[in-house]
Amino acid sequence: MAHDLIEKLREACGRENVVTHPHQLRTYESDGLLRYRVTPRAVVLPGSAEEVQKVLRACHEAEVPWVARGSGTGLSGGALPVEEGIVISVNRMNRVLEVDLPNQRMVVEPGVTNLDVSKAAGPTHFYPPDPSSQIVCSIGGNVAENAGGAHCFKYGFTTNYVTGLELVLPDGELIELGGKELDRPGYDLLGAFVGSEGTLGIATKITVRIVPVPEAVRTLVAFFEHTSNAGRVVSDIVAAGIVPGAIEMMDSLAIEAAEGATHAGYPSDAGAALVVELDGSEAECEHRFKEVEKLCEGNGATSIRVAQDEDERQLIWKARKAAFAAMGRVSTHYYVQDGVIPRTRLSEVLERIDELSKEYGMPVANVFHAGDGNLHPLVCYDGHTEGEAERAEELSGKILTACVEAGGSITGEHGVGYDKKRYMPRMFEEPDFDAFQRLRCAFDPAGMANPGKVMPTPRLCGEVPGPYRQHPLEAAGIAERF
Ligand SMILES: Cc1cc2nc3c(=O)[nH]c(=O)nc-3n(C[C@H](O)[C@H](O)[C@H](O)COP(=O)(O)OP(=O)(O)OC[C@H]3O[C@@H](n4cnc5c(N)ncnc54)[C@H](O)[C@@H]3O)c2cc1C
Repeated sequence: MAHDLIEKLREACGRENVVTHPHQLRTYESDGLLRYRVTPRAVVLPGSAEEVQKVLRACHEAEVPWVARGSGTGLSGGALPVEEGIVISVNRMNRVLEVDLPNQRMVVEPGVTNLDVSKAAGPTHFYPPDPSSQIVCSIGGNVAENAGGAHCFKYGFTTNYVTGLELVLPDGELIELGGKELDRPGYDLLGAFVGSEGTLGIATKITVRIVPVPEAVRTLVAFFEHTSNAGRVVSDIVAAGIVPGAIEMMDSLAIEAAEGATHAGYPSDAGAALVVELDGSEAECEHRFKEVEKLCEGNGATSIRVAQDEDERQLIWKARKAAFAAMGRVSTHYYVQDGVIPRTRLSEVLERIDELSKEYGMPVANVFHAGDGNLHPLVCYDGHTEGEAERAEELSGKILTACVEAGGSITGEHGVGYDKKRYMPRMFEEPDFDAFQRLRCAFDPAGMANPGKVMPTPRLCGEVPGPYRQHPLEAAGIAERF
């Protein structure tokens, strides 16, 4: 392929925006999940939708697969390159195109970071979905992953905020889905694209809903001897009809790591920390905040710290948001898992995780969006010892099985990507995969967009739906069925 295609990419985007040097390509060989690495043939950085169109047309003609990339913070290997394929990085497309406060809409290019969307809407408005990676991750990556965050319990996920998309399809055609209005008639193709993990096309322009900054915000962190006490507070808060802006939990190991990194003042002997943030009108916040304090006390809080000002609020949040990165202080290697359970099954699933941790002799720290039942177990292991990474992965898989058996899901917000496609059959049957594949093929009949991600079996658009039959690639031993 290669030379002709690379020349076409250079013509389309400028020589300086096509990376082919082996050292520079290493930057793009994985996303936030460092366990998997593939060096792409080249990386191209288009600066506009027209350039994305030219790049995708060139790949289409050359029949070369490609992977879209935002900031590369994904934790499921979604932006992992394809062998001999092209990575299309949208970082240069980072302009805020329109801020329409009266209609509560913003139009941005995909490379704008999540935090910059809120900054551009401020100080009167903000963009609620707030992944902990928000300083770096791109809004295009958020759309592809249907990203969530601490404030999604009350406010909803990315899918609840995207009203319009401009996309380039894998054959280079530019289309628009939705617009500024909330709900267009017709099939919800916009909904299908959000969370499609780069398998349907590239988002080049994104229209999002922004909301007014609440009048008041009150934040506390309560500490408990055990996560089960904190879990009961979560259930009691919900049962009382209180809808916190955020409700986040950390266990003792996560507290130890986060406190070591941030010195936020979390007690080192606490068994659990529960961050609760209420927002809304001054009067409502004040009234309900007192109720939350009482529920914490009633469930055995050993201490409660209420943020007295914005600086203290930020410090409380700093410990929670730094929790993943801080794990490096307690373990040389760790594996971030992402599963969902019904909130009411929290104690029992945490007990199962504890059992598995003992069985494998690997500490597991737990950080979670407690209101949504979205767990992030962090499996600690020594990657320098042969076979430990594989055992950590096995343990992580068993945690996901526990989540599914409890009536939950294999992912809450980090996506399926490369890492979790093997677990998809735990949630879906063959007819489901056939339906997914028909949708995927409607956007990408040639299968060039992020192949080998999300779906567990090698499937082609010409495959006959119906009961499973062995694919010729499997029979030839070229492809594997999980
Ligand atoms: C420390 C840390 C904390 C995190 N916390 C959270 C959290 O709280 N909540 C959460 O949801 N996630 C979290 N994440 C995961 C990650 O930040 C999100 O999944 C984020 O949405 C990825 O954005 P990105 O720009 O880095 O995308 P990338 O990693 O570059 O790509 C992710 C996927 O999106 C596709 N893609 C990227 N751009 C486009 C585009 N323009 N069009 C089509 N497809 C595209 C890629 O092909 C890939 O499949 C965290 C990650 C880290 C490292």
